[in-house]
Amino acid sequence: MKTVTYPAALWDTFRAAREGQAAVAARRQRRLDDIAGYARTHSRYYGRLYHDVPERISEIGQLPVTTKADLMAHFDDWVTDMSVTRTEVEAFLADPRSIGRDFLGRYVVCTTSGATGIPAILLHDMSALTVYNVLGYVRSLPAVRLSPRQLWALVRGRFHLAAVMVSGGHYLGNVMMARRLRTMRFRRRTQRLFSALAPIDELVRDLNAFAPVMVAGYPSALETLALERQAGSLTIHPVMVTAAGETLSAAQRRLIGTAFGCPVSNYYGSSEAVGLTFECSLQRLHVNSDWYIVEPVDDHNQPVPAGRLSDGVLVTNLANRIQPVIRYQLGDRVALMSDPCPCGSLFPVIDVVGRTDDVLVFRAPSGGEVRVLPLAIATVAEETPGLARCQLIQRTPSTLTVRMRAIDPDHETAVWGSLSRRLTEYLSALGATTVTVERSDEPPTLHPRSGKFRQVFSEIQDHQP
Ligand SMILES: [Zn+2]
Repeated sequence: MKTVTYPAALWDTFRAAREGQAAVAARRQRRLDDIAGYARTHSRYYGRLYHDVPERISEIGQLPVTTKADLMAHFDDWVTDMSVTRTEVEAFLADPRSIGRDFLGRYVVCTTSGATGIPAILLHDMSALTVYNVLGYVRSLPAVRLSPRQLWALVRGRFHLAAVMVSGGHYLGNVMMARRLRTMRFRRRTQRLFSALAPIDELVRDLNAFAPVMVAGYPSALETLALERQAGSLTIHPVMVTAAGETLSAAQRRLIGTAFGCPVSNYYGSSEAVGLTFECSLQRLHVNSDWYIVEPVDDHNQPVPAGRLSDGVLVTNLANRIQPVIRYQLGDRVALMSDPCPCGSLFPVIDVVGRTDDVLVFRAPSGGEVRVLPLAIATVAEETPGLARCQLIQRTPSTLTVRMRAIDPDHETAVWGSLSRRLTEYLSALGATTVTVERSDEPPTLHPRSGKFRQVFSEIQDHQP
């Protein structure tokens, strides 16, 4: 497999869309053969997994399914470069100075958090990064149609971009932004990261001072900011708002768009599948099916017909060689449409239900409400040393119930001690000073109705936004 250069990727991305459906399918098949062959010969994990799989496959269903838990358990065998070991990657991740730097000078490293309860460490090579960037430039940007007045507002606002995310860790958005700021120093004046974990008053104050004209963030964070904008405390006037990282509901899009008076765009992807989709001018998500294979499946990993909502989704990243992601269970619920989109794009439309975490709403001692973002509190919990898995449930306006498991069962009490302290401190910092954090005897479990793993949810229905 050759290294992908920018000119080659740009040319290929333009051509794929022009040449039509058959040309996209041909690229997908060729790239699948390449990545499966590469994985088989360069990754010990895939070498074993594909032992009984024929050399040439006619369809993707011949390849076994992979899961995050299994791949992470065999990390050193999963990677295709022998100089990459989990121990060294973890040492790299533990050093805060390494955020925005490339591991071994050639791999972008990020960690996942939040939705699934099992953190993952993911590496991307430079060819893959080129593909992700080109897909963004060629397919996502043209859908953003701005009026001359909005363009002028961008210039006047000096293109200030605020990203409201979980900062400080090696999360994808954070790493990519830190990387851009390090390599292109001039961007430091125009782009800034804001922590979605910060108390809302602080976030509002900092955003007002920075005056961004472009805002990107998790839907739950953007929703909270939209309420602050409506209340008048947040005074920014963005021209563009982009939601990513969680599912954007139609209600959230309406609320955010109305509050800020600007278009809201959406993105669906993950740290394993960067650049998976793009949103068209009709606000529908299209899969970049020349670089990704998306398979909506039922609970037994069997294909679900077009147009039907799946129980899970298998994704194959055809661009990244360092850590092949092939038929990887992402866990989101999706529907892949067979009808073409009226926008004219030949790339398939995907509907995503995705993560179903809730925003938790606690009572503040002063009488007001404290809104806690699911991804933010899940991150605080997950960063507890020794924690294997946890689930946060709100059952009353003043208690947070925690189901947890420690990596080492003998350390369960100590891990619970630091987990409950971290959660209490975090809630207090947000102003929810009277919340009791209690431990449940149950282990983290799937939701009885949906059968999905929900990491953060509320059982107080009338408090839901
Ligand atoms: Zn479309």
